[in-house]
Amino acid sequence: MNIKAPRGAKDILPQETLCWYLLEERFKEMCHIYNYYEIRTPLFEDAELFIRSVGEESDVVEKEMYVFKDRGGRELALRPEGTAGVTRAYLQHGMHNLPQPVKLFYFGPMFRYDRPQAGRQRQFYQMGIEIFGTKEPSADVEIIKFTADFFLGLGFNNLKLHINSVGCEKCRPFYQEALKKYADERLAQLCRDCQRRAQFNPLRLLDCKIKNCRELMKDSPQIDHFLCDPCRDHFNEVLALLEVLKVPYYVDSHLVRGLDYYTNTAFEFFSENAGPQGSLGGGGRYDKLAESLEGPPVPGVGVALGVERILLAMEEEGLASPETSDPEGVFLATGSPELKEKALLMAYTLRERGLKADADYANRSLKAQMKFAHRKRFRHVIILGKEEKLKNVIQLRDMLKGEQQELSFEEALNILTAKA
Ligand SMILES: [Zn+2]
Ligand SMILES: [Zn+2]
Repeated sequence: MNIKAPRGAKDILPQETLCWYLLEERFKEMCHIYNYYEIRTPLFEDAELFIRSVGEESDVVEKEMYVFKDRGGRELALRPEGTAGVTRAYLQHGMHNLPQPVKLFYFGPMFRYDRPQAGRQRQFYQMGIEIFGTKEPSADVEIIKFTADFFLGLGFNNLKLHINSVGCEKCRPFYQEALKKYADERLAQLCRDCQRRAQFNPLRLLDCKIKNCRELMKDSPQIDHFLCDPCRDHFNEVLALLEVLKVPYYVDSHLVRGLDYYTNTAFEFFSENAGPQGSLGGGGRYDKLAESLEGPPVPGVGVALGVERILLAMEEEGLASPETSDPEGVFLATGSPELKEKALLMAYTLRERGLKADADYANRSLKAQMKFAHRKRFRHVIILGKEEKLKNVIQLRDMLKGEQQELSFEEALNILTAKA
């Protein structure tokens, strides 16, 4: 067959899904403990939503977004990130009228037309949490602490938390002006994109992926000299609380994040083993996002984590090995074709009791069935032979211990359900 998965879209195969479950379960368990509720928003939205929120000048909207017209002529986009859709839903369903803050989480695929490489796909998965309706620095810190604990729970102990304040609409323009001036003096040496960024959105100059631009911008002005008093106070409070909670951080005065809607806190978690940029996820505060969608002023703060990147880093660091999952379940084996139906009925009985069970569907010999059960990591095999049929018993084989005992099916059922 010549049809393959599209470039940048990846099949997640059964041997990989175990690792995915591990991550999803850990994430959902954390969300439960921290009192976040799940929201599921559409995979496609009005393109306008992302243009207004993520920003027209952002790489995401300008170069990476999948935009298409449907048969009704609507301009739609596959969601390139999660926060815009969640905020849209929050506003659309009047969640700003509920007691605040509202704490939500999401898990699902996002889409960006980017150059595929390790840990970076065009369809990729993100999980994230959001807190709407509070400006408190303690909310920023909750998001960061959640993320730090999530990573610790997965076994990461060498991640670096970079944090910065990107200011507000009052103080940021002064910083942008200074950045623009700095870039204008070096305009000829910057890439074409950056030349335009210097004009329209100087903050973007700091997340150009081209090495030469990064070198040139290394000594550019730092935002901490430009923050207004409320922004500085907010940032200092966040840092002080992180210290109280013993979350180590590094103030990175050039961290701006790739999306336009951030205000105040911006942060990112880095690993040496996470692929090209080393980022496993990040987030920050977005107090102006709701207003940019013509909603009431609703402050918000959140984080988005890259599932593939985290899995890649776990693999590199030896934290994920699905092969170690314990053998489980019961395989019903029989060498006699006339006993096949009986074996199948037993499998259904086991399933009704909530046990994983399966039987042979390939007319294998008994020996081949035993081999199959071993390869598929079944813990037990129930062997049903003609002799056993006459005595109304079965052989229950423990594949791990290599022990076998003759029992009635009911006795076996009791043993197996007691173990489960
Ligand atoms: Zn400010
Ligand atoms: Zn550049």
